[in-house]
Amino acid sequence: MNRQEIIDILSDKTKNDWLFKTANQIRHENVGDEVHLRGLIEFSNICKRQCKYCGLRSANNKVERYRLSVNEILSTAKNAVAMGYKTLVLQSGEDDYYDTDKMCEIISGIKKLDTALTLSIGEKTYEDYKAYKKSGADRYLLRIETTDKKLYTNMHPGASIENRFNCLFNLKKLGYETGTGCLVGLPDQTIESLADDILFFKELDADMVGIGPFIPHKETPFKDAGNGDFWLALKVMALTRIILPNINIPATTAMETLNPNGRIIALQSGANVVMPNVTGVEYRPKYEIYPNKICLNDAPEKCRGCIEGKINSIGRSISRKYGFRKH
Ligand code: SAH
Repeated sequence: MNRQEIIDILSDKTKNDWLFKTANQIRHENVGDEVHLRGLIEFSNICKRQCKYCGLRSANNKVERYRLSVNEILSTAKNAVAMGYKTLVLQSGEDDYYDTDKMCEIISGIKKLDTALTLSIGEKTYEDYKAYKKSGADRYLLRIETTDKKLYTNMHPGASIENRFNCLFNLKKLGYETGTGCLVGLPDQTIESLADDILFFKELDADMVGIGPFIPHKETPFKDAGNGDFWLALKVMALTRIILPNINIPATTAMETLNPNGRIIALQSGANVVMPNVTGVEYRPKYEIYPNKICLNDAPEKCRGCIEGKINSIGRSISRKYGFRKH
């Protein structure tokens, strides 16, 4: 599919059903019917960055900040592995309190458990990424957010798109399963740039791609912006499945926030992964990257049972494997 074809499909609402069915079929043929669950640990909401769309940006002084200790992170991880999770994802703001040594201690502690480990802790140096890998990290998530340089620069004060690209290519070079993705519906974002985002996923040969609609947060400069479009986000996701048939694609939490059946619709339109939150309920409301996050008060055990039921109800099952990319 070339750029113009992608743009045409993204612009044409009459092609939606065809697109979602095709992506679902390609998902079935290439990665099968099992759904991989990844247990998400949101271990710190402290962030030095100023991303204009994110509720955790450092300028937001309305959010109560928290950090989990190494022991709390390890006990959260143990609990999740005991529930059956075969992959854990450690996510946080860009919080320098967790320096290289501390991160490596956490990583090697978690890798003593029977689980694959994904990191999602932002832009770090090549040396940091190398040290995390040596300690046992398997995968890394770093969304490019948008490949439109002008938009990227406006959205991320003090950051550069070149560094974001560099980080992604460094992660690939170091042998991580590398995940990226974009936001859909950022103010001033164009359909053309979304097509470029999809082509970038292909150029990187991303192993995982997460697509989420933008949801405005009231303590950010975009408090008065509208929600991203759920269906457009779903189309970007479906096109990504068609272009990268064997990768892992999550049905994102942001999709479910905008549509009560969002994750199930996504699983039937190309997605094969869900990332339930396994963080303790006392911290959940504080990790507010956008408002109205789902399952805020649900204990990890409840979340797992709930999503398992939904997945079974559409004739799919939960994988008992680590869920690496199928080559
Ligand atoms: N600090 C890490 C993790 C960021 S949070 C990093 O830089 O990679 C994970 C994702 O949440 C981000 O990549 C972004 O795409 C998404 N996000 C942030 N603010 C959002 C908003 N207002 N609406 C929807 N998604 C948002």
